[in-house]
Formats: sequence, structure tokens, C-alpha cells
Amino acid sequence: MVENGTLRMESVSRGPILYVRLYGAIDETFDVSEILNLGEGKDLILNLKSVTRISSFGVREWVKAMARLATIKNRVVLVDCSPVLVVNLNAVANFSDHCDVVSIQAPYYCDACDWDTEVTLAINDKGVTLPDKPVPCRRCGANMKFDEVEQSYFGFASPDRFRPLDPHISDFIDSYLRAGDTEKAPTVATTQVRRAFPWAHRWRQIPRPVLVGIASAVALALLIVTLVVTKNTGISAEALDAYHKRLAGHDYPAALAMVDKMQKDGTLPPALGDQMRAEVETRKIAARGATLAKAEDLFERKQYEEALKTFDETISLGTDPKPLFFTIAECHRRLGKPDLAFKNYVLFTDSFEGDKGDKGFDDALYWQGDYLIKQGRLEEARPLLERVAKELPRSNFKRSAARLLESIE
Ligand SMILES: [Zn+2]
Repeated sequence: MVENGTLRMESVSRGPILYVRLYGAIDETFDVSEILNLGEGKDLILNLKSVTRISSFGVREWVKAMARLATIKNRVVLVDCSPVLVVNLNAVANFSDHCDVVSIQAPYYCDACDWDTEVTLAINDKGVTLPDKPVPCRRCGANMKFDEVEQSYFGFASPDRFRPLDPHISDFIDSYLRAGDTEKAPTVATTQVRRAFPWAHRWRQIPRPVLVGIASAVALALLIVTLVVTKNTGISAEALDAYHKRLAGHDYPAALAMVDKMQKDGTLPPALGDQMRAEVETRKIAARGATLAKAEDLFERKQYEEALKTFDETISLGTDPKPLFFTIAECHRRLGKPDLAFKNYVLFTDSFEGDKGDKGFDDALYWQGDYLIKQGRLEEARPLLERVAKELPRSNFKRSAARLLESIE
């Protein structure tokens, strides 16, 4: 078992066949060399039944990985593609270039008892069709309903793309895979699984804002399964790349504008658009936290110019500036820019919420008073310094403020 954080892999090597089952999320950490390291087989079978999420960065890595595998392997086949895979098979123009989709998971829903499940459907030279026989609910016995729109969900499987499998591959799939992974039903195998929230066990390790972002992204990824994806639209590799460049450059408004535009043009299915918007939000929240931490670190290390740039950056990403005005003022003061320092001390005290005895508030008043005296604005300086000297007994600046007051008597 190989694990790289979000994705786990299980593998079996048998003769010319390397069989790999993936569990979890495909994101930017998806690395094809991890698959190649699992075994030598010239024919690769990827079981994608337990792939729960694909980020748009994951889509990019996936497309690259398939292109690379095609140069190394005889044949790459995908079996039991989960609904998130099917959404991408339909929505991303080149998602299944270089590989053959053998079977997919079709979502079924029981109206009677509110249960859902997935049914494996094979793809043949006629595309993919729903089973003739009804699918009974294993919980209550009622007939379940296919929980998607046939034309769109099966749209990717055009008969002209079908290539028959070599017998040794289909034999392997029939014997090992069917026996090992699912119950031994001849044409339709079902697994009864409640869609679980895949992040549950890690909740406590993830910072809350990131968690909220992830939760919304996962919710949308699950929602996407029930939405309609039309056959002839698909986001191009170029467009996806341009979108990623904007994300990587922290230009989130531009990334969102791209998503809006593609949706207006009709090149982006609404479901994928929603997924991408959620992703932009998650990235933005993560970048906000990272830039704030970086700015504070730079300040601690007395790199005030860089700290100021990074404070600007985190504020432009939506970080609340109110608590930051003080540190920004300190940067300017230490860089010998008293006008800018004064302006930010004023912003800080004007927007201050909480206990006025807290660290920072008295400092900011003192430095405002100090600046105003140097500007000859004594009448404005006096009340500020009196406040520090008389009303804030815990202030470290009490004596200094009193001395400044004496100096202007
Ligand atoms: Zn039921």
C-alpha cells in the first residue's frame, strides 16, 4: 500500500498485468511515477471505484499522467470509474485520451428508504446502457432509480471510441477483479455504500478556515454528481492551464472571471463551474492564512519592507486589515516614514475593538502624540498623551507619555 497524503494505492502484479486500485482524492500531488513504481506489467488496469474527489489541479496531473503512461504501457484501462471520474470523463475534453474506459459506477437512489448505492456498468461497442433488470434496494427491497440523466452521464462513451480488450486483460478483470472486489453477479455487481464524508478522520488536523473551504469543495464535488453535463461541451487543456496559472499567481478574481466567461460561452458545464468556484475560494482562504503568517514572520525578523508588501498581499486576499494596522504602522515608523506610520496608528486606534488596555492601543496613542508634537500640533497631541498617562494604568508608555506632556507645558 502506497500513500501520498490524499491518495492510497493498492496493487497486484500478474504476468503482463499491473493492477492498481486508487483510494481517495486526486489532486496536484498525483504522481504517475508512484504508479510506475508499483510493478512492471505492460498492461495497466486502474480501478477507480474509490476515487472520491478530483481537484482541477488533479485533472491537469491526470491528463499528463495518462499521456506519459501511454508512452510506457501497451494498454491502460480504467475500470469501475466512480461518479466523480464520470463527471470529468464527460466534462474534460481530453480526460480519457490514451486510455480505455471499461466500466463505470452508476449512482442509484432508493426513494422508499432514502438510500443510495452505485452499480457497475460495462461499456461495450454500443456505449453504455442501463441494466434491463430492476436494481433492488438491499436495505428495503424496493426498486431503485438511476440517479442521473442517461444522455449526459453516458455521453462520454461513444461507440466509435470502443476498442475490444485483449483476452488476457478481460480474463483478469472477470476473474480476479469481479471475485475480489464485488459479489459474483454475472452482469451487474452492486456495492451498498453510503457516501461517506471522506475527510472526517482528519478534521482536527486541518485549520478551520481551510476546513470550511474543503467542506464546501467536497460538498460541491458530491453535488456535481447529480447535475447535468452535456455531451458536446468540454473545457480545453489550454483553458484549464490558463485557469491554473491564475490560481498559482493568486489572481483569484481573474480565475473567477474566467470561470464565468467559460460558462457564458457554454464551454464549461455548470457543475464543473461550481466545482472550480469552490476551488478558487479554498485556494484563496489558504493563501490568506499563508500570507498573513509570512508577513508576521517577516516583521519579527525585522524585514519591514518585505513585511509591508506581504501585509498588502494578505489584505488584498481578504484578510481583515483592522488588527494589522498597528504592525503596519510599526513597519513604517521603523523604516523612518513617520507620516505613513501616523496614518496607520490612527487607522488602528479608530477601528480598535476590545479592551483599550490591550497591548498596542496605548503604543499607538503614544506614537500619534509623539508625531503630532514633532509636527508642532501640540493641542492635538495633548489629549492623546493624557489618555495614555492617566487613563491606561497598565501601559508601559505611561511614564514616557507623562514626560512628553511635561516637555510641552
Ligand atoms: Zn430502499
